Amino acid sequence: MKYYNLKNKSKMVSLKEAVLTGIQGSDGLFMPEFIPQLDARFIENIHQHSLQEIAFEVAKLFLNEDVAEREIQSIVKDALNFEIPLVHLHDNVYTLELFHGPTLAFKDVGARFMARLFAYFLKDDNQQIHILVATSGDTGSAVAHAFWNVPNISVTILYPSGKVSLLQEKQLTTLGGNIKALEIEGTFDDCQRMVKQAFADSDLQANINLASANSINLARLIPQSFYYFWAYAQYVEKHGKSEVSICVPSGNFGNLTAGLFAKRMGLPFHQFIAATNANDVVPQYLSTGTYTPRPSQQTISNAMDVGNPSNFSRIMELYNCDNEAVKQDIVGYAFTDNATRTTMKDVYEKFNYTLDPHGAVGYAAVEVYQKANPNVACIFFETAHPAKFGDVVQDATGISPFIPERLSSLVDKEKVAIKMKADYELLKGYLLQ
Ligand SMILES: *Cc1c(COP(=O)(O)O)cnc(C)c1O
Repeated sequence: MKYYNLKNKSKMVSLKEAVLTGIQGSDGLFMPEFIPQLDARFIENIHQHSLQEIAFEVAKLFLNEDVAEREIQSIVKDALNFEIPLVHLHDNVYTLELFHGPTLAFKDVGARFMARLFAYFLKDDNQQIHILVATSGDTGSAVAHAFWNVPNISVTILYPSGKVSLLQEKQLTTLGGNIKALEIEGTFDDCQRMVKQAFADSDLQANINLASANSINLARLIPQSFYYFWAYAQYVEKHGKSEVSICVPSGNFGNLTAGLFAKRMGLPFHQFIAATNANDVVPQYLSTGTYTPRPSQQTISNAMDVGNPSNFSRIMELYNCDNEAVKQDIVGYAFTDNATRTTMKDVYEKFNYTLDPHGAVGYAAVEVYQKANPNVACIFFETAHPAKFGDVVQDATGISPFIPERLSSLVDKEKVAIKMKADYELLKGYLLQ
C-alpha cells in the first residue's frame, strides 16, 4: 500500500515516509492510495476471531509493503494488550468500552500502535528522536504511556500548571525514564504555542530530531479502524446478524474517519452517528451542506472541543465532496452540556451504568437516532473511563465513580516535573542541554 498527502495528490510515498513526514510537524494528512478490501469470508465469520486476530488481518492490508508479517503480529499484540468489551445496556443499545487501556481513554489504542510502529521504523536508522507534546490532559498521558521505555525515543510533555486534574497530573509526571514533564506557568494555549515555536525553529531542529505524536498521523488512524470490526464481531456473537449503526463521540473526527475506512473495507455497519458537544460544525455541515469552522468552545466533554476538525478534509476526500453521499452514511447530532448531564443522570438511574461526559454525548445521539430508526440496533463508543472525569460525573449523577486501581495507585506516587515560565527561550535551552 502506498500513501499520498492531501496537499499533493500525485506523489505516492511509502507508509514509512508518510508516518515519519507526519511526525515532523503539521503536514501529516496522508491517505491510502485506495481503501483495501477485507476478505468477505473473513467478515462473514468474524465473530469466530479474537481482537488481535482481526487487528492483524486489517493491519496487514495497510502495512504489508513496509513491515514484515511477523513484526505486524507483534506490534498488534503488544499495542492491544487490554480488553475492549461490548456491553449490552438495554434493548438494542450497546456500548463498546474503549477505556480499559493504561490511561483509561480510547487514545491508548492509537498511541500504543504508533509508538511501536515508530520504534520499528527507527530501529535500523539508529536515530534518536525527541517527541514534544503540549497537552490539556488526556493526549499527553496516552502518548507518554505509549512511548514509555520505547528505545531511541524520548518524550517531553508540556502541561499548564494547575489546569489539569490531580490524577491527570500524576499520569503525566510519575512515569520517569524517557518521559519528562514540564509544568508550564501558563495556559494550554501557551504550551501549544511553545511547541509550535520549537517545530518552526531551524536552529533547534539542527541539533535535535524533533517529532510530534500528532493525532492526524496515519500511525494513529489505522489502528482505530480495528475496533470497529471487533465491535461488530462481538455484536454478531451476542446477538446474531442484524442492522446495526455505530455512534462515535467526536472532536477531531479521527475516530469516525477510521470507521469510514472500516466500512469501505467491507464492514456492514448501517450508518455512522457523529455525536458532538456544542462544537457542532460537522452536524451543521450535515444539515446545511456548508462547512463553517469556528473557534472551539469549552464544554464538559473537553476532549471534543474542536472547532475545525482536521479529519474533515479526509472525509471529503473519501466521499469526493459529495454532500448527499456523506449524508447517506453519516447522521450528526449535537448536545449542550446540560443535555449531557441529564443523559448521565438518566442512564445512571435507569440502567445503573456510569457514563463519562463523552460517552454521554454518544448515548444522547443514539436516543435521538433510534426515535427515527427504532429497529436499528446501536453501538456507541465509551471513549473515556468515568473516573477520569470524576467531578463532572459526581455533579451530574450525585455519585462519584469507582476509581480503578491503576489510577488510584498514582495518588501516592511522587510527582516529578520541571516548573517553567511560559517562555520559549527557556524551553529551547532545556531541550538543548
Ligand atoms: C480525543 C477524544 C475524543 C474525540 O476523538 P476524535 O478522534 O478527536 O474525534 C472523544 N472522547 C475522548 C475521551 C477523547 O479523548
